[in-house]
Amino acid sequence: MISLFLAMALMVAMQPNSASRDRPVDAGVAQALASERASTIRDLRYDLTFSIPSSKGDPIRGRAVVQLALQSPSRVVFDFSQPRKNVLSVKIEGADVAADFVNGHVVVPASATRAGVNRIELEFIAGDEALNRNDEFLYTLFVPSRARLVFPCFDQPDLKARYRLRLEVPDGWQAVANGAVSETRVSGTGGSVSSVTTVEFVETQPLPTYLFAFAAGKFSVETATRNGREFRMFHRETDGAKVVRNRDAIFDLHARALAWLEPYTAIPYPWGKFDFVLIPSFQFGGMEHAGAIFYDAEDLLLDESATQNQLLERASVIAHETAHMWFGDLVTMRWFDDVWLKEVFANFMAAKIVNPSFPELNHELRFLLAHHPGAYQVDRTAGTNPIRQPLANLDDAGQMYGAIIYQKAPVVMRQLELILGENTFRDGLREYLKRFAYGNATWNDLVRVLDARTNRDLVQWSRAWVEERGRPTFTTQVRVNERSQLEGVDLLSEDPLDRGVLWPERLHVVLGYPTAARTVSVDVTRDRTSVRTPRGLGRPLYVLPSGDGLGYGLFLLDDVSRDYLLAHIEEVPDALIRGAAWVTLWDNLIEQRIEPSVLFATALRALPRETDEQNAQRILAYTTRLFWRYLPNDVRLAQTSMLEAVLRAGIDRSRTQSQKAAWFNAYRGTALSPEGLAWLERVWRRQETVPGLTLAEPDELTLALELAVREVPRWDEILQLQASRTQNPDRKARFEFVMPALSADPAVRERAFARLSFVENRRREPWVLESLQYLNHPLRQVHARRFVLPALGLLRDVQRTGDIFFPTRWMDATLGGHSSPAVAAIVQDFLAGELQYPQRLRWTILTAADELLRRSDAIR
Ligand SMILES: [Zn+2]
Repeated sequence: MISLFLAMALMVAMQPNSASRDRPVDAGVAQALASERASTIRDLRYDLTFSIPSSKGDPIRGRAVVQLALQSPSRVVFDFSQPRKNVLSVKIEGADVAADFVNGHVVVPASATRAGVNRIELEFIAGDEALNRNDEFLYTLFVPSRARLVFPCFDQPDLKARYRLRLEVPDGWQAVANGAVSETRVSGTGGSVSSVTTVEFVETQPLPTYLFAFAAGKFSVETATRNGREFRMFHRETDGAKVVRNRDAIFDLHARALAWLEPYTAIPYPWGKFDFVLIPSFQFGGMEHAGAIFYDAEDLLLDESATQNQLLERASVIAHETAHMWFGDLVTMRWFDDVWLKEVFANFMAAKIVNPSFPELNHELRFLLAHHPGAYQVDRTAGTNPIRQPLANLDDAGQMYGAIIYQKAPVVMRQLELILGENTFRDGLREYLKRFAYGNATWNDLVRVLDARTNRDLVQWSRAWVEERGRPTFTTQVRVNERSQLEGVDLLSEDPLDRGVLWPERLHVVLGYPTAARTVSVDVTRDRTSVRTPRGLGRPLYVLPSGDGLGYGLFLLDDVSRDYLLAHIEEVPDALIRGAAWVTLWDNLIEQRIEPSVLFATALRALPRETDEQNAQRILAYTTRLFWRYLPNDVRLAQTSMLEAVLRAGIDRSRTQSQKAAWFNAYRGTALSPEGLAWLERVWRRQETVPGLTLAEPDELTLALELAVREVPRWDEILQLQASRTQNPDRKARFEFVMPALSADPAVRERAFARLSFVENRRREPWVLESLQYLNHPLRQVHARRFVLPALGLLRDVQRTGDIFFPTRWMDATLGGHSSPAVAAIVQDFLAGELQYPQRLRWTILTAADELLRRSDAIR
């Protein structure tokens, strides 16, 4: 603690204030501004008051008293992204200050400040953008840097502050925030009949702005005590039976998560009281505001028909947000370039907390299928990015999110735990949490803590896995002597991007034999690794270095192993090894080491014999993808009835609704034969049912779209009838938006695309994506070529105006249906012509176009 403080004092001394005073202030929250403030501002406290009127159209007035210590007089730059007129006054110790207003900042000049403690008072009109105002309630959502829309602040994660909050709310409203309520007063307002409730909250522990939160409105409150701690649940559910059915489970899950985390971290729950708020249509599954977690109400209040998976998801999101109370809240990243770290830890802890309660699921297989295929989908491409990337301004924080953070980083963290051992890993985390409690730390701070506990070079390990993009390529050499006995297996690892990067990792290499598989553990620390195989074995049927789902990389199979798995994969007895083999075969297909029609035949043969539901779903997804993207037209048509027969049998054979739905959806997505389409139409017309499967309105909507894109007779009558029979108004509006994209008339489709160039037609992103998918459906790809170049041209605009995931999804929806060299050439020409194109968006295009570009290379 002391040495850390000295280091910061030195930084202050080395950075003369005159230099920072003249530096321009950019829009957003630039890293340069953030480090200037982090080095000058100390002992930060906010005292905030918000007056919330009963009508959501009336402005919210606010007052902030910001107390901070400065070593010497220096400018103080607040973030406040509102028009200048929203700032009503700026004062220091009661005297008006001539503040500057620059690019969404309020700048208090150095001449108005003094060394030591300064109290700056600001009165303002709060912006509504991050307040989610509804008629009967509102709530804040400030991550990553949206607090500055609501009140003047230092909107960066490493200026932690104590918050005192006062909310004036309409009579009858509840209020909840990070701190406990210290006082509630009801008073009449002068001349008006309505009265106002003032709720005061006790001062919080140090928090970054993105974790500061409150909600107010007409909420019901449920209270429960578990292990001596009181929990409060705020909600707006009107179905009393639903609340009764779920409340105990929700409280139990929180208590269980705490009971696991406190001993694991060796730190008691850090935030005093424990409240949570169930919000209707919340933007995320949950948000980890310290002491006041917000959840999407639908994820927690489940129906009686909830599936095993929904129960697991609920337990996971509760454990995830509760784990954040330590990982992210108690110790916070210094900057959002390390946002991945808190997410990985929360998921990692959630899995440890929750999985033992669901013993019937194969969790290793679930981990593999939930992470590796999604991570590889990006990491195998020329457009991949490192886990940790530079971030110059928090306005660009959206670029941090994607498969590399959500799917690759958990794999990497699991490797780290394996390298260190569970106990060393846990002890390192305890030290890290204790040392940086209520403060900030970077990934490298954690690496240093862990590095001191192992002989392994974690710095090198981290450089390869976290700081560099891409993954290793492994090839296998199986050595057999003249008596056909196994002498050994060698693994050769290479950097496909030719930088000479070596990714150290632990592998469990599986050697397949007729009766059982043998697993050999091996640490990869150099580019050639000898696997110590047991003596006296014959040549294995196959060698699978990704064997039990542990390894990460491209595993190019040797020819014998590849051919064996293609011919016999369904005979591999272990579900996890089968899952890993499928993921590996798919990678070998992408690398053109397997013919699409051969893998397709393997899938059709293996599907009926696949006993694990998770594997079956994965194979169905691969089959659909092969069918549309990889099979040449004539082969696809020749295979249609065969595929339909396999899928129909799968529907009939399945025992549960969710299994049946997976098979039916694959059928609906691939059927092409007149008989198959006639059956789907009878189902859609409700003349026939699928035994054991209840189709809900969304299923019928998709069915209508799938029939229309195939131009079955009377396709437009089907669309019209579907629109008129749709009950839910939101779904009806979406369907009507998408309908023109389905027209058999090319001119109508061209107009359906043209409207997407206007931002007001792109506001509802799922509607837009569904339209793009059908416009570019494989059956329409020849006509749809004309949409590709304009869609590429719109990408920058889409990024500027859309939400964080929109650019990636926009490109996927545009290119997903195309497999022609002509479209590959359009993409290549576009990139060649755009020399100044932003790097991150170039990567987005290269990732979405990856399979298209590889396929067209192969065809040429
Ligand atoms: Zn999280």
